[in-house]
Amino acid sequence: MNKKEYYSENSQLFKEAKQFLVGGVNSPVRSFSYVGGEPVLLKQGHGSKIYDYEGREFIDYCSSFGAMILGQARPEVVEAVRNQLTKGFGFGATHQSEVELARTINAAIPAIEKIRFVNSGTESLMSAVRLARGYTQRDKIVKFKNSYHGHADYLLAEAGSGLATGQIPLSKGVPLEFIKHTLIVDYGDTEALNSIFKQYGKSIAAVLVEPVGGNYGVTLPDIEFLKALRLITEKHDSLLVADEVITGFRFNFGSFLQTVGINADLICLGKIIGGGLPIGAYGGSSKIMNCLAPQGEVYQASTFSGNPIVMQAGIATLRILNQEAKNYEIINQFAKQFCDSISKYAVANGIDLKISRYRSMFSFKFSDRALFSLFYRSALEQGVYFAPSEYEANFLSFAHSSADIAKSIISVKKTLSCFVKKEVS
Ligand code: PLP
Repeated sequence: MNKKEYYSENSQLFKEAKQFLVGGVNSPVRSFSYVGGEPVLLKQGHGSKIYDYEGREFIDYCSSFGAMILGQARPEVVEAVRNQLTKGFGFGATHQSEVELARTINAAIPAIEKIRFVNSGTESLMSAVRLARGYTQRDKIVKFKNSYHGHADYLLAEAGSGLATGQIPLSKGVPLEFIKHTLIVDYGDTEALNSIFKQYGKSIAAVLVEPVGGNYGVTLPDIEFLKALRLITEKHDSLLVADEVITGFRFNFGSFLQTVGINADLICLGKIIGGGLPIGAYGGSSKIMNCLAPQGEVYQASTFSGNPIVMQAGIATLRILNQEAKNYEIINQFAKQFCDSISKYAVANGIDLKISRYRSMFSFKFSDRALFSLFYRSALEQGVYFAPSEYEANFLSFAHSSADIAKSIISVKKTLSCFVKKEVS
């Protein structure tokens, strides 16, 4: 089979996709705009492997942008979804599965006395901000430069993820008035934080923070800064909103901030807790959460929230994560082994590659974008699928095996060796 035929199904499908979907995708980073060329369209997955329409197999480190911590199609999760499917898809009424998932999350994160399930991470942050504003009766919020908290208008200013990938400082369509209450500070800059609180302290409803940055490459947590953040928010009666959409249940069975002894007022979750199906959630003390309708006057609603199929996938996923919690350390070690080995190889061969890792998540940074694109494309040829942007994180899942890691190391080294030659030629 020649190369043209080999890629034909993918190309044909992408051509059709472009006809009906904007840019052929339903979310910008999927278009491979950062790395260039046609994206790989994925047909199915099992465990740590995903397969395109040509039948090519890839070891998956994108992990549906961090949602698939058990890998694809884990049998117990499939079974839980299948069981629910035959009983109805959703009722617009409270279902036992919502209570069970809420109870499971409360047991793991006691600070979440009450929770509200929504349909995405975006909705969770958007709603948490509204709640914080309603609770404090204040308007301003603080976010950190290059953090990403979903696509609500006032959170898109200087955001990471797809906006960093597309070099978009602020999305068109967001009136400047909509971001006038969004204050932006550099993560880790205690002085700037103090000065913003000095100036606006009495009007700041909340500070939003990704405790481990996952949307501008992986940004390591600065625990002292996070503690200072907790103190200053407490001092000014502002709420600390932990965006744990990526980090929740990622490194341990619970919240990341909780493990470092910091209690946020509101915690936003997403990705993992839905087992790969669309979900978001925000929660905190009963005192704050009871300000939400129907108890309180902060309004937030949704037709699909708490959907029983999603809930069952979430329950099954969290049950496995809890039962197999020892795997958190194993995938941490796998990620360390992979990143250390690749970094060492890069240094030994004079390749300007930096790998940023926090436990089981990591990102690559080359000295220029073209080199990353080259690297990315060659890694695909070698059967390794990373997130298609240097700004996005890669994730290990419980499905990754030591054989996957060994194979990935060989493949990525091979990628880098060709890359060195190409760079020189
Ligand atoms: N918050 C963080 C930290 C995220 O990484 C993301 C998405 O990647 C979101 C919020 C938005 O979540 P969603 O894409 O489910 O709307």
